[in-house]
Amino acid sequence: MGTIVAIDGPAGSGKSSTAKLVAKGLGFVYIDTGAMYRAVTLQTIKKNIDVKNIDEVTKVATEMNIEFKWIDGEHHTFVDGEDVSRKIRTTEVAELVSPVSTIPAVREYLAELQRKMAKEDNVVMEGRDIGTNVFPEAEFKIFMKADVRVRAQRRIADYQKVGQEIDFEQIVEELKRRDKIDSSRKHSPLKKADDAIEIDTTCLKFEEQVEKIIKIVKEGSF
Ligand code: C5P
Repeated sequence: MGTIVAIDGPAGSGKSSTAKLVAKGLGFVYIDTGAMYRAVTLQTIKKNIDVKNIDEVTKVATEMNIEFKWIDGEHHTFVDGEDVSRKIRTTEVAELVSPVSTIPAVREYLAELQRKMAKEDNVVMEGRDIGTNVFPEAEFKIFMKADVRVRAQRRIADYQKVGQEIDFEQIVEELKRRDKIDSSRKHSPLKKADDAIEIDTTCLKFEEQVEKIIKIVKEGSF
């Protein structure tokens, strides 16, 4: 097993953009586990399956093939050969992804897949439960957080990229609702690992936080 950098935190905390640049800076493989939960949710919607139907949702998760590829400097997610990078970022998916993510069999299956993906490489893996559940033995654990209104502003920019205009207060509510489900679920909830470094990105400059994490990993210790 290579070196694992685990980056966890709530939606909009700056995890994804940070994790991508840290991976580039270190020459590590980047794995976006949120995209995997979103991909399962998208397939569930496409197949008209009720997210409360645990067996059917689990079947969808275990039968789909998820791949990540870098194309022209952008990170893309593929499901069964189709590029779903934009489709997984819509409000419809955001609304249902947290309920899907509470299903233990889905979590266990995806966590195992994430461990396999990291088997032979050095990786930066981001999500909610990487430092606590997927790789509790990871050498480097970062927990990112930020004020909910700052996170909502960042999310507005994400939605604009996929062509959706959303009301600010609506996003604040979506984030609060997702945080609540993600933090209170029984199986591997969103929670800072005891040995993770906490970074509050409310006021931090983006480049500073990326540099800070790269330095920690290069120097080999927190
Ligand atoms: O990071 P992102 O916002 O794309 O994650 C979408 C959702 O996927 C989260 O709100 C959470 O419900 C779920 N998730 C999870 N565990 C992870 C990553 C994401 O439950 N490791």
